[in-house]
Amino acid sequence: MAQATETQTCVIVGAGPAGYTAAIYAARANLKPVMYTGHEPGGQLMITTDVENFPGYPDGVLGPQMMDDLRKQAERFGTEIRYEKITKVDFSTSPHTLWSESGAVVQAEAVVIATGASAKWLGLESEKRLMNKGVSACAVCDGFFFRGMEVAVVGGGDSAAEEASYLSKLCPKVHLLVRRDQLRASKIMQERILKTQNIVVHWNTEVEEILGDEQVEGIRIINKLSGEKTEIPVKGFFTAIGHQPNTDIFKGWLELDETGYIRTVPGSSHTGVEGVFASGDAQDKIYRQAITAAGTGCMAALDAERYLAEKGVI
Ligand code: NAP
Repeated sequence: MAQATETQTCVIVGAGPAGYTAAIYAARANLKPVMYTGHEPGGQLMITTDVENFPGYPDGVLGPQMMDDLRKQAERFGTEIRYEKITKVDFSTSPHTLWSESGAVVQAEAVVIATGASAKWLGLESEKRLMNKGVSACAVCDGFFFRGMEVAVVGGGDSAAEEASYLSKLCPKVHLLVRRDQLRASKIMQERILKTQNIVVHWNTEVEEILGDEQVEGIRIINKLSGEKTEIPVKGFFTAIGHQPNTDIFKGWLELDETGYIRTVPGSSHTGVEGVFASGDAQDKIYRQAITAAGTGCMAALDAERYLAEKGVI
């Protein structure tokens, strides 16, 4: 049986720092936001331990705790949170239409997208088991905990080069594990990597296993050309093999770049569709920090508020 349709002023899709910040601003502006969290409320911060670079927490904060704080702050001003996933949208008419996984249909005068991105993982069992116990996908977030220790980074793109470069300032030795005989990273990053003394590049190399029971104690790598296996005693293991923006449902409705990130008008959260605003990692492949996501979430709520006022909805 078809479900009844409801109309909301502002629907926020996604519940990471961008979504919650958009919700706080939208709720305080009396837009009565309805937030759909998806299956991973809190997003990537939920798989992070200590966050020490988000301003306002002088002693650091656990990622899940910070997300809980943001949720409470959003709820305090009246955000309605629905623990469901949006599975389909239609942005061809205004108000826009969204379907949730339960089959409910919601129409929204303004939509804020904050669906984030997911780090790609190698898919090893040991990688999953040792997540946050030495395995990380963010050197800027977690590198500090490995000061003075030997670490490894897997990947050959700009992210891997940046992570290796960042870690080389904290760690005595950084092993960069590259599956081919060349880097995909930009020339300038390649040069930086190759001339950094304490970054050791292992070409044609795959990770066979991450070693350790409770904490990462090393890795076993294999050279694909010679078949030679080597164990390296690293304490930190960083995957930097790319991120996947969670934007599949917007394909065909919004302009995405070649890797799936939503294109926004520079300096704003406007997408090419009136009344649809994008924020956070779904549209940012450069900075990808909680604080920048929160910043763009704020922008999206303010842009939505202005749009709704101009349209005479509020
Ligand atoms: P990327 O460019 O897609 O590079 C991914 C890297 O990981 C490639 O070297 C790839 O190897 C390797 N890889 C993929 N799957 C792997 C696996 N299963 N095992 C081992 N290695 C694997 O991703 P990215 O580095 O995250 O960059 C994404 C985009 O953001 C790029 O356009 C990049 O330029 C941009 N970016 C820009 C900046 C900046 O401007 N400051 C910083 C970060 C990222 P192959 O080369 O063999 O495919």
